[in-house]
Amino acid sequence: MELSQQSIDALRSLIEGAPQKMVVLSHTNPDGDAVGSSIAWAEALRQRGHSVTCIVPNKYPYYLDWMTGIRDIVIYRNEADKAQQAIAEADAIFCLDFHTLSRLDALGDVVEKNSSARRVLVDHHLNPSQSFDIIFSHPEASSTSYLVYKLIEALWGAESVTASQAEVIYVGMMTDTGNFSFSNLTPDLYRALAVLSATGIDIPQIYNNVYNSFTEGRARLFGYVINRKMKFLRKGTVSHMSLTEDEMRRFWFQQGDSEGFVNYPLTVKKMRMSAIFIEHSDFIRVSLRSRGNVDVNLFAARYFEGGGHKNAAGGKSFVSMEETIARFEAAVEEYASEGLL
Ligand code: 5GP
Ligand code: MN
Repeated sequence: MELSQQSIDALRSLIEGAPQKMVVLSHTNPDGDAVGSSIAWAEALRQRGHSVTCIVPNKYPYYLDWMTGIRDIVIYRNEADKAQQAIAEADAIFCLDFHTLSRLDALGDVVEKNSSARRVLVDHHLNPSQSFDIIFSHPEASSTSYLVYKLIEALWGAESVTASQAEVIYVGMMTDTGNFSFSNLTPDLYRALAVLSATGIDIPQIYNNVYNSFTEGRARLFGYVINRKMKFLRKGTVSHMSLTEDEMRRFWFQQGDSEGFVNYPLTVKKMRMSAIFIEHSDFIRVSLRSRGNVDVNLFAARYFEGGGHKNAAGGKSFVSMEETIARFEAAVEEYASEGLL
């Protein structure tokens, strides 16, 4: 992966000038990569004298609570005034791990209407919108945290990466690659990992903090959804599951508890696509995963007003659970009839 020298030069002149007010933004339902890349990049900017506020639209999942610096992140849903003020006053806004302001929900309007800051995109989703002044858009990168590593390396050298940055960058790399099991695992990613490891971070501890810290309710909900809700279509090559608000309440659901469920059907041989539908008060969140050539980014865009990556995407549905499932099953048939499955 090559970063554009022109974009690096533009970024350097933005960062290495006089101290400025800066904002680092990431997407709704922030995950390990959103939070990890934001914290690491904010630290890099602060080291160069800038005053930095990290903002996300809503709360991150509880299994990331342990991350150093996470409590400094402003959650727009809880502290709208503080977020609005930081955005209005910012000279530069960094958009990390998303490709269009619509991924920020209501916070996107705040950026659109209340800010004349220079905008920098650092992201690995497909099809970025063009309303950015400096763009680092790399769909071939396995995580945005890896991109942040590459920016720091290009600007100030690998030796400038601190242990605290290495820890949160590692979280983003690990979570977005399914603990280094998905696509785009390049030799250069492992060179970056060697640099992170050399800072002395405790990799097994990071793994435990993220993946072995769920609640009993989550374990029981997982058993329930796999046993009772997982349906197979098209000779076991497509799967879907659903969770209603009522079912989630029965298992003391907390945000983050359904993390990873959608991956599980792909452990079945021949499975090519997996979906989960999760009910919220005003819509149903759709999560999609696939293997190989099955493009769920296109599927999410076509049928569920969403997008993402080729093998991991999401969207929304504004009809009932039954109708969402019926529409999904019809969409699968249409997709298959076009040879896309
Ligand atoms: P997840 O299923 O983990 O929520 O999301 C998987 C991927 O799909 C992520 O890369 C995420 O950015 C993307 N994604 C999830 N929901 C949406 C959505 O509503 N719109 C778009 N454009 N992308 C989404
Ligand atoms: Mn990501």
